[in-house]
Amino acid sequence: MTAAPRLVTAVGGPASLCRFRGALVGAVLGDCIGGEFEGTEPEEIPLDRVLQYLDGLEDETRGDSILQYSDDTAMTRCVAHSLLTRAGFDEQDMARRFAKEYNLAPFRGYGAGVMQVLKKLASPQLSDVYQPARAQFGGRGSFGNGGAMRAAPFALAFRDRADVRRYTRLGAMLTHSCSLGYNGAILQALAVHLSLQGALVLPQDFLKTLITEMEEVEKDESARSDARALNESEFPFCARLHRVKELLERNNVSVEEVISELGNGIAALHSVPTAIFCALHCMEPREGLPEKYGGLERTVAFSLSLGGDTDTIACMAGAIAGAHYGIDAISQSWQRCCEASEEADMLAQRLHNMYHRAPPEGDPGVLSSGNSQQHLRGGSSSEPQPPE
Ligand SMILES: [Mg+2]
Repeated sequence: MTAAPRLVTAVGGPASLCRFRGALVGAVLGDCIGGEFEGTEPEEIPLDRVLQYLDGLEDETRGDSILQYSDDTAMTRCVAHSLLTRAGFDEQDMARRFAKEYNLAPFRGYGAGVMQVLKKLASPQLSDVYQPARAQFGGRGSFGNGGAMRAAPFALAFRDRADVRRYTRLGAMLTHSCSLGYNGAILQALAVHLSLQGALVLPQDFLKTLITEMEEVEKDESARSDARALNESEFPFCARLHRVKELLERNNVSVEEVISELGNGIAALHSVPTAIFCALHCMEPREGLPEKYGGLERTVAFSLSLGGDTDTIACMAGAIAGAHYGIDAISQSWQRCCEASEEADMLAQRLHNMYHRAPPEGDPGVLSSGNSQQHLRGGSSSEPQPPE
């Protein structure tokens, strides 16, 4: 069945409501649709199988079956609700929400490592909410993409880029204390944040800005020692972004090349740059992808064809692409068949309000209460550190 033509209206200027809605709904769609192919080898899912599956989502006779979201959306919802309820970042509240969500619905595909952290976060005796993540993997912490997969709401909540970096890092460290985990989350949040401003229009400039930002982030001593300990080059995310740049400059790039150069795995380093590449690569029509597809559909389809951690890569790519194309460019049928897409839309609208509520001049924007730091209304502030 062919897709009904969609009325695509203007995406709006920088940080328009349409872009906010596109970002969060795009993330949920990527997670729900990507879940179908999670863990498959790319050779098991030739593009025509992906397209056949996506065509099926447009089929109005498919009934009311809903694609369930996974841990990506479960935790993204927690982040968004926490930022909105606390009017800023509050690590105690966010940690409690992660633990409660896991307890209510443990079947959402959480990794074994993070489940241990979430169980410990549920303890009422726990005062240092960063401690369980720090204790992971012999004290080295996780470098998985679990912080990055839930990073989008940070990009939508804070207007100041320094705040996006700061609070995304702290939010990710609740479960991922290795710099290769939380720096991946920062990269993903910055990519969404820049896309909301319309920066994808100039892909090379967009990448240049990301590289400059990540050079600053990765010069930190803990980032350098983590990279050494894991036998990665110095500035590992910057190195990957340079590879994204090179791949984009080539005329033809195969799925195999994308996987070997960027990865399709559960490490943040092997998936966040991949998601960024997917969004940029699919801004133009691509051979093998239907002409009727808009950029977001192309991005999701291409992400799925890579196999591996498809739900998270499509979720992250969907957020970046959704922030660029806006909600009106997203297939209604896809939205209807994905669990929680309506809630994501509503949360995006509330985050849009939060983002645009600028602090008064000179307002430091930080309240302290007990062990928590609440950052209000997106102004700059001195950097709160997690307890050592
Ligand atoms: Mg998942």
